[in-house]
Amino acid sequence: MVTVVTRQGRRIEIIYQSELCDPLNLGEYVRAYCHIHGSDHQRSLSINKETGWGHCFNAACDATVLVAEWNPAVAERLLHSRYQRGAPIPPPYYQAPEKKLPPVSQPVLLQHPKAPPKWQRDELAALLSLSRQTRAALVHSKRARAYLYERGIPLEVALTAGVGYLPPDMLYMPELKEKREILRRWAERIIFPLTSPAGKGYIGRSLDHWQPGMDENAHRSLLDQERRPRRWIKTNPAGWFGYDLDRLSGCLILVEGAFDRLSLLAAGFPPAGVVALVGTATQAEWYPHQVKAAILALDADEGGKEATSRLACQLKQTGLCVKLCPPLQDKWGKDWNERWRRIGPQSVWPIYEVYTELCGIVS
Ligand SMILES: [Zn+2]
Repeated sequence: MVTVVTRQGRRIEIIYQSELCDPLNLGEYVRAYCHIHGSDHQRSLSINKETGWGHCFNAACDATVLVAEWNPAVAERLLHSRYQRGAPIPPPYYQAPEKKLPPVSQPVLLQHPKAPPKWQRDELAALLSLSRQTRAALVHSKRARAYLYERGIPLEVALTAGVGYLPPDMLYMPELKEKREILRRWAERIIFPLTSPAGKGYIGRSLDHWQPGMDENAHRSLLDQERRPRRWIKTNPAGWFGYDLDRLSGCLILVEGAFDRLSLLAAGFPPAGVVALVGTATQAEWYPHQVKAAILALDADEGGKEATSRLACQLKQTGLCVKLCPPLQDKWGKDWNERWRRIGPQSVWPIYEVYTELCGIVS
């Protein structure tokens, strides 16, 4: 391990693959016990396999790491800048240290102890393999486009956010014969990509029995009736919509629903600054080091208020600056999407004010 401090004062631990302590492969991420602070209870070190960048979620440690072999170009550049500033020369980064810890390639990596049941893994794999087709289907389905339009979401905003649609007839494509049964419950759903430290997932909203012109609240109560498809379904793992561990901005707006997030994006908020929790339990250890502040903009109903106070408490404990901005309690709706649909841009002014103020404090 070599510690590098960048010109901006950012401390980065460049580590070697062989130093990873009992690593587990979790989709896009590897989790390992953190050898930097010496944890032995939790795999608090989470590293993106593709970029090599990772983070220790232990609040006291908070280390930023880069696995040299997984991103040799950047590792080399960082090490080079370090030598230039006269640091003692460490061994070349590709030289594995003497201490033998379990290597990344060991068999334990192949099987997570709490892996989801097979059907859930198959379901997720099937959805992942269709991501391009479902996004194309969103463009081509008149019905899905009409639905988005009536929720006030421009097609481009949805597409940029990775949203797709699974039209029922897609299931009858010959190449999907094998996956048909496992995908059936996703038919006629708007599909949103989710992310968590465990990897990718999806959440889908049913359009069953929706007709153009039907109010969202009317559709919702229709779906809540017996023997209707569930309004929302998720894969395992699920995650948050808009959560990109490496790109989240320093000041986050947390909303409840996927359509709330799309409404804020439609209003012009930056995609890296708005995360929809979509009912996935929030975990303080998920927040990467660059996140300094959060605006809790959950729904104005009882559930939203309860979640807000729980979350505010949790986030303050991890040292984040927290502001609350629930939707106003007036006649224009309890969530941001409903308000956006009904009164347009002025619906998000309260968030805009808090956001501008908070970004000024933390930047
Ligand atoms: Zn650590």
